[in-house]
Amino acid sequence: MDDELKKVIRGIALLNASEHDGMTRIDAVISKVIGTRPELRERIKEVIPLISDVVKEVNKLSMPVQKAELEKEFPELLVVKPKQERSGLPPLEGAEHDKVVTRFPPEPNGYPHIGHAKASIIDEEYARMYGGKLVLRFDDTNPENERLEYYAAIKVGLDWLGIKFDLIKNTSDDMELIYKKAEELLQSGNAYICTCDKEIISKNRREMLSCKCRSIDIDQNIKRWNNMFEKYKPGEAIVRFRGSMQSENTVMRDPTLLRIIDGPHPIHRDKYRVWPNYDFAVAIEDSIDGVTHAFRTKEYELRNELYYVILDKLGMRKPKMLEFSRLEFDGMPVSKRVLKSLVQEGKVSGYDDPRLPTLEALRRRGIVPEAIRRFVLSLGFTKSDTLAPFETLESFNRKMVDSTSIRLFIAVDPIKLTVKNNNLTEVKILNHPQKHMGARVIQIDGTFYISNEDASHLKVGDEVRLLELYNIKVTKLGSIIEAEVIGANFKSEIPKIQWVPRKNSINIEVLVPKTLFTREKFNENSLEIKQALTEPHYLELNVGTEIQFVRYGYCRKDSANQVIYTHR
Ligand code: ATP
Ligand code: MG
Repeated sequence: MDDELKKVIRGIALLNASEHDGMTRIDAVISKVIGTRPELRERIKEVIPLISDVVKEVNKLSMPVQKAELEKEFPELLVVKPKQERSGLPPLEGAEHDKVVTRFPPEPNGYPHIGHAKASIIDEEYARMYGGKLVLRFDDTNPENERLEYYAAIKVGLDWLGIKFDLIKNTSDDMELIYKKAEELLQSGNAYICTCDKEIISKNRREMLSCKCRSIDIDQNIKRWNNMFEKYKPGEAIVRFRGSMQSENTVMRDPTLLRIIDGPHPIHRDKYRVWPNYDFAVAIEDSIDGVTHAFRTKEYELRNELYYVILDKLGMRKPKMLEFSRLEFDGMPVSKRVLKSLVQEGKVSGYDDPRLPTLEALRRRGIVPEAIRRFVLSLGFTKSDTLAPFETLESFNRKMVDSTSIRLFIAVDPIKLTVKNNNLTEVKILNHPQKHMGARVIQIDGTFYISNEDASHLKVGDEVRLLELYNIKVTKLGSIIEAEVIGANFKSEIPKIQWVPRKNSINIEVLVPKTLFTREKFNENSLEIKQALTEPHYLELNVGTEIQFVRYGYCRKDSANQVIYTHR
């Protein structure tokens, strides 16, 4: 007992030492020991001398020696287990700590979008919540639609979201095993090869009728199977699961398990031509990957029966399949088909067009990964449809970027303003009102730009404050507005406007993304481009910097002369 306890204490002491420059302390170790073994609280008097000895021993060791022992004897302590239940997701049915395995199975047939973010974030949150594992599996068994470009784009998107996988694999790497499982089903009579025409198959399905292929014997089926690899052409033969043609669940009416697809696979080129379809691949893969809890969107719900029965007939371990709703934004398509045609028809500039809900586009627009995570988790694990307003994501994002965004001045659709009796040559302005983000010095000479919006409200005689400068009185309107300084004291009752110095001002364009579709119809004015001037400090900022333009909104610097409007 004491030896085992001593080992526990030693592990805790070594870990604590490694986190504190090689020195651990009795009090720290006591509280950690009780934290992991609450039953020791009552015996603490006996335990303290043990802890004291161990702490002394550990503190005598050099840091490299401590580290080596920790890595060798206590590797499990080095696995970082993030805080549990930070997500507010409901507990997982039948989940055991340390044993949960989830997976995210994208098909590499398009760019990742907000829906993939939802699925992968939920997968990851559950894996972490239970100290389990997360698998990224490219479900790549439909070579006609898949491209290397998409594997890469999906990985880039997931990395950006900060999702960490314990294993990354491709379904197509398991083809030999999938063939073996198909043969098993053929041998046991749970599958057969159908050579009927596509139209006949559909008709029979509708009418709940069996075809002649259903009754051929096993030898004949094996012969047909072998022929699928050479003789048959695509569409001439498929492997079908022997379900029930009379089932109320149409999915169960002898569904396809494998089919012939000629044409190169992005990774395996011409190595295979018989490919499993989604239902067959996902069942086998989830089972062999050790997945305990598999999630997918609820339109797959009818396929659950097939998923379980395939594994049953193969005598394979069954994960638990659960569904959640698809996530889409109002007026922003996530369907790969729609996204693809928007890009191909040139209606948007590419997959990173800021009007799209792709991860690439959200990133460019200035949405940060943590906001996406919080947003997704705020929606929870529901089956009810989620047509979320984009504003909800924006409000999460605003909270995230507010404290880190530099404040700058911008004049959108700029109008010139000259101020008589200006007596300043420069002004120093804080980059953030509360945070320590430094300050910038702006050179001024009495000529400024203000936004057309502000200019349009001015009347002769109006008093306004130029933020951080002084108060002025408007003396003349026109293509150039004239004004004079009337004092520097802050007056709360007069309007305050931002300005840009004429000197060294920077020309930029502001891209303002709007809703892409209004009631199914493409919005031709979904991307507004505004001309603007900003302060010279803009040039110092890296591309990707989030800026809060005072009184205008948050924008992300997209290039030397372009920003994208993030949100208000
Ligand atoms: P598409 O119809 O656009 O091809 P998909 O569901 O076939 O979408 P996959 O790449 O196969 O796309 O999806 C990988 C995972 O992401 C699946 O588990 C799927 O359920 C989930 N997923 C895809 N789109 C959404 C969405 N809009 N909301 C939530 N989860 C989604
Ligand atoms: Mg798919």
